[in-house]
Amino acid sequence: MPKNTPNLAVPCPVCEDEDLKLPNFELKAASTVTVLQCLTCDWEFSKDQSVKIPGNLVRHAAEAMNIHEGYSSLGEYVRDCVRRMNEHHMRQAASDQFSEFMGALGENPEIFARMIEALEEDE
Ligand SMILES: [Zn+2]
Repeated sequence: MPKNTPNLAVPCPVCEDEDLKLPNFELKAASTVTVLQCLTCDWEFSKDQSVKIPGNLVRHAAEAMNIHEGYSSLGEYVRDCVRRMNEHHMRQAASDQFSEFMGALGENPEIFARMIEALEEDE
């Protein structure tokens, strides 16, 4: 078996089901990360990863940690950076969608009137 073929029979971290999992091909294509979905409980998960970080970037991280303080290790700092960048991209995507929605309303304001009518009918 080629080295980069993911093992799809990984135990689910939630329900511990050991049957084959469904890989997310879109996320794999975008990130090279394997995200698997449990077909029993629908939970999506990936395996823990260790990522090699070049020395120059580690040095910059040490300087940033010295300025910010409060981090107990490089690992904690890196995990926080990844979390913050993820949130940034999610917020950006939501904001772009909202802008697109507002743009569509601006071009076609009667859609908004129809939405209000639909809401009032639900009440
Ligand atoms: Zn499961």
